[in-house]
Amino acid sequence: MAGPGDTSAGCVAARGVDGRPAHAAALRFYWGPMDCGKSTMALQMNYNHSRQGRRGLVTTRIDRSLGPQVTTRIGLAHEAIEVTDALDLRTLVRDAWADGVRVDYLICDEASFYSVEHVEQMADLVDSYDVDVYAFGLATDFRSCLFPAAQRLFELADSVARIQVEVLCWCGREGLLNARVAGGRIVREGEQVVIGDTVDDADVRYQVLCRRHHRSGDLGPRATACAGSAA
Ligand SMILES: [Zn+2]
Repeated sequence: MAGPGDTSAGCVAARGVDGRPAHAAALRFYWGPMDCGKSTMALQMNYNHSRQGRRGLVTTRIDRSLGPQVTTRIGLAHEAIEVTDALDLRTLVRDAWADGVRVDYLICDEASFYSVEHVEQMADLVDSYDVDVYAFGLATDFRSCLFPAAQRLFELADSVARIQVEVLCWCGREGLLNARVAGGRIVREGEQVVIGDTVDDADVRYQVLCRRHHRSGDLGPRATACAGSAA
């Protein structure tokens, strides 16, 4: 597999007379806890770019619908390409181009569930193919530790932005961290990715907490009544 510096398969970006790239593609990472509107923003961005005549692909991994689409908690949905470990994002774009499909950008939803190699491929798409990549995802897992792909995005992205839709902890403070809840208690050990259910009495669910209550494990007075659904 090609490394981050391998440009052998890439196309050289079109250049102006001064030698600078005519279009400076960028890798951008938008992050926040669950329920902060990441997928909504991803679809809005796709809509805005398509309105301007640009064409892109939408990818996702482990969407809450568990199907090849991006779904949002406020009811929007868009078909998407499921990212597997075997999928090379550069091949995805090259194959689309070979089929005559224009690809100006990629919208990568749930990017924290991608592999680190996928993030290297995103950087390659920007640097060698002149394709914009907009990645959306969680920064940290249920233990408040960075996902490997999120860490790589923080390291490589041209810009990183915390999504500014505030999610509140039960105490009213800003929600920052996703807690995994099982049997009514906060869980601190286990697999990094476990899909939570949407029903209140699910075996595993997720709840956004402020740092103070994530650290203390206090799920609040309505701990058994309010359920989250995302990994
Ligand atoms: Zn709190």
